[in-house]
Amino acid sequence: MSKVKTYIQSVLDIVKSRNPGEKEFFQAVQEVLESLEPVLERHPKYQDQKILERITEPERVIMFRVPWLDDKGQIQINRGFRVQMNSAIGPYKGGLRFHPSVNVGILKFLAFEQVFKNSLTTLPMGGGKGGSDFDPKGKSDNEVMRFCQSFMTELCKHIGANTDVPAGDIGVGGREIGYLFGQYKRIINEFTGVLTGKAVKWGGSLIRPEATGYGCVFFAQNMLATRGDSIKGKICTVSGSGNVAQYTVEKINQLGGKCVTLSDSSGTIYDPAGIDAEKLAWVMELKNVRRGRIREYADKFKGSQYLDGKRPWGIKCDCAFPSATQNEISEEDAKTLVKNGCKLVSEGANMPTEPGGVEVFLQSKILYGPGKAANAGGVAVSGLEMAQNAQHTNWTREEVERRLKEIMDAIHTQVKTTAEEYGMPGNYVVGANIAGFVKVADAMIDQGLV
Ligand code: NDP
Repeated sequence: MSKVKTYIQSVLDIVKSRNPGEKEFFQAVQEVLESLEPVLERHPKYQDQKILERITEPERVIMFRVPWLDDKGQIQINRGFRVQMNSAIGPYKGGLRFHPSVNVGILKFLAFEQVFKNSLTTLPMGGGKGGSDFDPKGKSDNEVMRFCQSFMTELCKHIGANTDVPAGDIGVGGREIGYLFGQYKRIINEFTGVLTGKAVKWGGSLIRPEATGYGCVFFAQNMLATRGDSIKGKICTVSGSGNVAQYTVEKINQLGGKCVTLSDSSGTIYDPAGIDAEKLAWVMELKNVRRGRIREYADKFKGSQYLDGKRPWGIKCDCAFPSATQNEISEEDAKTLVKNGCKLVSEGANMPTEPGGVEVFLQSKILYGPGKAANAGGVAVSGLEMAQNAQHTNWTREEVERRLKEIMDAIHTQVKTTAEEYGMPGNYVVGANIAGFVKVADAMIDQGLV
């Protein structure tokens, strides 16, 4: 084993023993650190400065009690978190997730990924993530509001437009951002861009809801272009049916592709005729207004079917867009996708592919865009929302989408050329990890031992 490999392994051993039971965090750290070997070989300063040991330790983790009253007048207690991972290149930035599976390990994995993703966007944003084990499903609007108010009553002490700027993620959309913002403003008595994903009427940016899905499809277009190909005419499978999935379908439709699946945690719908704009509008109403389940799609649209308990990966496709959650593509699923002729996987979700599945995609040489590059469009437009707030201005839809496209093009070029520079052309995993790392690591060295 080379000296650098031994060093990386020793850091991984420390991370594992210091963070017991946090398997998603360890998975994310292992994937990044193992791909940094060539950059550590070339630049010993990163090892001398103990950057790996420092970058895997959050700058700050806040955990707090969130008490609230449900509609029956019963007391409920949830747990709130904010992981402030790294502020070397800007204020902490990253979403809030409300889901029963949330714990400190999940949020540390997401915050760690966010550090590299934000670095790739070219914008000045550090990495953070937060949330709660609160489940918005089945709760009334009033219950969600009371929870958000209680959550923000504590969180407001730790965030600010120049300190830490949260946004949405799973379970946190426009409704939740509204309640959180209202409570922040009431307590701090300041109307600032402390959250992104705000409604356009009160400080939000056009294209923010669309940004992650659109950006992920732009990234896919860029990957396909390296092989003289495009989305046009491609059969696409999409998982999830929330924010990212919805706008992924919208952009694929605009570019002439055909999406045949959507899913939620209960099952998948398969529509061989394609989820066109009209059907998508119905899905948006179902998920964002009525907050129903995706199975209703199969009752509504003839020719489609509901696959109870299934994920979309058994359906034959040219391109796959995992857009639900972490570890939703197993090694077996990856093998099935490749066997069925899938040419491209562009990750809208964070870390949706298990390590064995990533290996399958890399070995088979299909186009594989990891989440930290492919889904960076969401945080990029959050960065643009911060810029507009700071200038007290609003850009047009065309202006924001143009900038989003430019950023996704720049990320693609950066990731591709970094992979080539380190002798692994076409390996977007290595390209994204190294390009994201170098900028943050250099900033940490510049700023001394803090
Ligand atoms: P939403 O809450 O809008 O939608 C999440 C979707 O994923 C729902 O359909 C949900 O189904 C499904 N889902 C959630 N958890 C699970 C699970 N454990 N198993 C199966 N399905 C599940 O979230 P977003 O669309 O915002 O986020 C989706 C992914 O994209 C996440 O990984 C997120 O971190 C990532 N992401 C989001 C960004 C954003 O801007 N919103 C930016 C970058 C990445 P159900 O209703 O049954 O729970």
